[in-house]
Amino acid sequence: MGGLSVGARLIDGAGLAARIRGEVAAEVEAMKSRGAAPPGLGVVLVGDDPASAIYVRNKTAACAAAGFYSVQRNLPDTTPQADIIAEVEALNRDPAIHGILVQLPLPKGVDSDAVTRAISPAKDADGLHPDNVGRLAMGHPAVLPCTPAGIMEMLHDEGVAIAGREAVVVGRSNIVGRPMARLLLLEDATVTVCHSKTADLGEVTRRADILVAAVGRAGTITGAMVKPGATVIDVGMNRLPPGEPGGKSRLVGDVDRESVELVAGLLTPVPGGVGPMTIAMLLKNTLRAAQAAS
Ligand code: NDP
Repeated sequence: MGGLSVGARLIDGAGLAARIRGEVAAEVEAMKSRGAAPPGLGVVLVGDDPASAIYVRNKTAACAAAGFYSVQRNLPDTTPQADIIAEVEALNRDPAIHGILVQLPLPKGVDSDAVTRAISPAKDADGLHPDNVGRLAMGHPAVLPCTPAGIMEMLHDEGVAIAGREAVVVGRSNIVGRPMARLLLLEDATVTVCHSKTADLGEVTRRADILVAAVGRAGTITGAMVKPGATVIDVGMNRLPPGEPGGKSRLVGDVDRESVELVAGLLTPVPGGVGPMTIAMLLKNTLRAAQAAS
């Protein structure tokens, strides 16, 4: 008996991320008090894309707050691929570094896959090296990509049932959609992956008990595409121009919040949902790598 709909409850990703970051900081403190070196993150940023610069700044600030050691290599966007790979290899050799992050996208002409392959799989803080991707695909222990790993943590924390449920992932990128589908499958959801060629997106998404939108286009998921009571995870980060002249640009997800809020049971907000969890998982991956190395 549902009674009157009161709308979706928002999942507080920022709050959960803060809790996880606090737990990571406590573990780092304990490592240091045992005389062990703190976890070290090496970040490679190529070019001057403003969004990438903000992401890197947020990540390194989170590292500092958790007591990590971190280094950042800023390279001009004219840097040859071989020199980017040489930076990665230097970080591979540095015993103070346990996690390496190459901020994507890399400038045109640089083969991102080749750079990712250069990262030692044990230091692959983003879980994007083919060894880790393959291990995840086979259901073996692996470093998990931060965004989908953070989403699984949110689902667990909220006690969302996964086994036997219908999960629909919209988007099939290597960073979000594909690993998201694999993680949901590993926990026994019945998983469908949608993409730009999906014939009738709404027909598929309406089946979802768990709906993950990772498209990169505002308003992709509307209330009419959501099953009543579903858990809706909004990964999208889309910058909209200011509502009024001189105003600030707005960050919105892929979900049309106004209409989806009326139908869904649980919904992640943008900002304050998936984004903060992604950073928390980066810290967790680097901490685990440091613990494995010690
Ligand atoms: P990509 O551009 O790599 O992938 C987008 C996916 O969406 C593709 O698989 C594409 O299909 C699919 N798609 C595009 N249009 C449609 C459509 N009309 N209907 C159904 N599917 C469609 O993006 P990412 O996965 O890297 O990122 C997705 C979004 O998530 C972006 O907004 C990004 O900024 C955000 N993001 C947020 C993070 C966070 O921490 N909050 C972290 C990473 C990303 P096809 O494969 O057929 O082209």
